[in-house]
Amino acid sequence: MKLAVEVEDSDEKLIVREYRRLLRSAKMSDNKDRVQVRKAFDIAMEAHKGVRRKSGEPYILHPLAVAQICVDEIGLGPTSIVCALLHDVVEDSSMTIQDMEDLFGEKVARIIDGLTKVENLFDQPESVQAENFRKVLLTMADDVRVILIKLADRLHNMRTLGSMRKDKQLKIAAETLYIYAPLAHRLGLYNIKSELEDLSLSFKAPTVYEEIERKLKKTQAVRTRFVNRFTSPIKRELDNLGLAYEIKGRTKSVHSIYTKMRNKNIPFEEVYDVFAIRIIIDTDFDNEKNSCWKVYSLITDFYQPNPDRLRDWISTPKANGYESLHTTVMSPTGKWVEVQIRTKRMDEIAEKGYAAHWKYKEKNQQVSSLDSWVNRIRELLENPETNAVDFVDDFKLNLFAKEIFVFTPTGDIRSLPQKSTVIDFAYEIHSQLGNRCVGAKVNNRLVPVTYVLQSGDQVEIITSKGQSPSEEWLSTAVSAKAKSAIKNYLRSERKSVAEEGEKKLLELFMELGIQDHLENFRILKGIFKLDSKADLFYKVGSGDIALDTVKSLRVSKGKISYKTSKVNPLRTLEDIVEATRGKKDALVIGKQSKLKYQLATCCNPIPGDDVLGFITKDGSIFIHRVNCPNTIRIMSNYGYRVVKAKWDDRESLTFLAGLKLNGFDRQGIVNQITQIISDEMNVTMKSISFESHDGLFDGTIMVYVNDTQHLKNLRDKISKVQGIMAIHRIE
Ligand code: MN
Repeated sequence: MKLAVEVEDSDEKLIVREYRRLLRSAKMSDNKDRVQVRKAFDIAMEAHKGVRRKSGEPYILHPLAVAQICVDEIGLGPTSIVCALLHDVVEDSSMTIQDMEDLFGEKVARIIDGLTKVENLFDQPESVQAENFRKVLLTMADDVRVILIKLADRLHNMRTLGSMRKDKQLKIAAETLYIYAPLAHRLGLYNIKSELEDLSLSFKAPTVYEEIERKLKKTQAVRTRFVNRFTSPIKRELDNLGLAYEIKGRTKSVHSIYTKMRNKNIPFEEVYDVFAIRIIIDTDFDNEKNSCWKVYSLITDFYQPNPDRLRDWISTPKANGYESLHTTVMSPTGKWVEVQIRTKRMDEIAEKGYAAHWKYKEKNQQVSSLDSWVNRIRELLENPETNAVDFVDDFKLNLFAKEIFVFTPTGDIRSLPQKSTVIDFAYEIHSQLGNRCVGAKVNNRLVPVTYVLQSGDQVEIITSKGQSPSEEWLSTAVSAKAKSAIKNYLRSERKSVAEEGEKKLLELFMELGIQDHLENFRILKGIFKLDSKADLFYKVGSGDIALDTVKSLRVSKGKISYKTSKVNPLRTLEDIVEATRGKKDALVIGKQSKLKYQLATCCNPIPGDDVLGFITKDGSIFIHRVNCPNTIRIMSNYGYRVVKAKWDDRESLTFLAGLKLNGFDRQGIVNQITQIISDEMNVTMKSISFESHDGLFDGTIMVYVNDTQHLKNLRDKISKVQGIMAIHRIE
């Protein structure tokens, strides 16, 4: 009994300490703000009373931490602190959004509403996550703070993910990589983006993560020495000029090093830009550009710049608001080094993003490209997709898209995602123009709708009354705006075909004396293997289902009689998933397995790989590797349908795996490799291809092996062949 009291005592101390820390960081000068924050804290305390997180700590520490992140790492103010403190209250207590409005006003209530998860939608469990995310985005159209607080929430959840179950960790990490990190990037929250990515990687691939981290630590001292030597002449000159400055050596995040190693297929040691040197100058707004170029000129007096690698993000800031001057110069040791030059203001925007940018806005009146991006999202959201998963996918496409700038016939400038076509431009102007578009004049030349636009093109859309969008347009269009307009059109067209079909079918029912009864529709759906009544009506309307087929069915007493045994019992997806998952904790796959499954062809898993099962709509199971890129997408959208899977140890089948290798070409090398494969290792080879150029070669070998160990042995042997530079498994 005494112990319990003691524990609560120390809990309370901890809570009070965290709350005081928040108040100190927030530096609120207005007493009204302090009262509101206190009120929010008390309400949150009460709502989460007695509740603990998975880690065992009192729940209230979570909203406190989220509020702290909002202040320290995003630069948000009192309203956001109030919302962050209350963000889980509606979900976890009997309080409602209306209560929030009564207590804190409409603005706060709207933000909290955006942050409150939608209820579990029973009929489409796979898209709950997407639905939630869409809701956040919809509210973001009113107030960007919703998304910023959501990111703070996600960041804290990622920081404390260690105490969750392993499969939950993987799902949440995948989701974070898929949507939250790109979003943080798009909003210019560089620090949060990097931390989210690093945390995700540390859960997804712990060994790789630790390896890179270890190597970074080991090389830290060398880097510091290098930076000191490199910057010492520059420091002297900057001091002479009387500029106030700060110089930092910035190390790349583990995740971006990992991405580089993977994309370029190189070891850690060959990533040449592991770090950059950043020079931050303190200067007033009017002298910013001037001072940055002064520093540039000074650096290039000492070191030779690479003319191809000069990036001026000061004259034209990036779409997420990033401003900086980048150059890559040759160091005395013969290494290329990136130098980033920026002012204090630019640095703060680069690291903290949107809110920091907000703070400086009054000084800098021009509309930034970030604002126009947020405006574009707003427009997109006016026309929300009914399918949340598609919506999130389209939205994600637009998150990372680079931009091009094109002109209207009257010389107005419009920005579009890179690779946009004539169709995207037409929809950018107006959806009616899009729907009727048959082609365009680009720089006075006639081009088809599929034509890919370039920056600087002047575009005049040509329309025809007879034109209407088709399914193919969806693959021609790139922008989310065009895609959603086309889908809208197709959906409304589908609806009118379905209405026509419904009319025809009901007329036929009358004629044959079939009752307009749920059971009859159920039977028809079963016969034609359709999911919904709407599909049935559509197929009748479009003529895919001939009315004669319906006429040939037997009818008695107003009911279609059809051997029900033949009709597939209409199981819900949930039933299927439950049945597949069974009572066991993971699916066992391999020769002994009674389950029918397929190995995904995107990642070709073999025994020994970490794998999971994905259940498709019709109940088939696909086995993917945990680090397959498709897995990330699947997990974040359909986490519900993912089941754990493990290999049966008694396995002795063979599996197809691929190796990519490169090196110096020399006579007989191919022979030597095939020799190893067939003789020494007793492996069956499916195919081998080698291509050589300028004394180097690239090769791909597909082999049948038993498991990862078997493959590793083979790899080790081949890597010892003279001339081989790199060999790795095809992911
Ligand atoms: Mn939360």
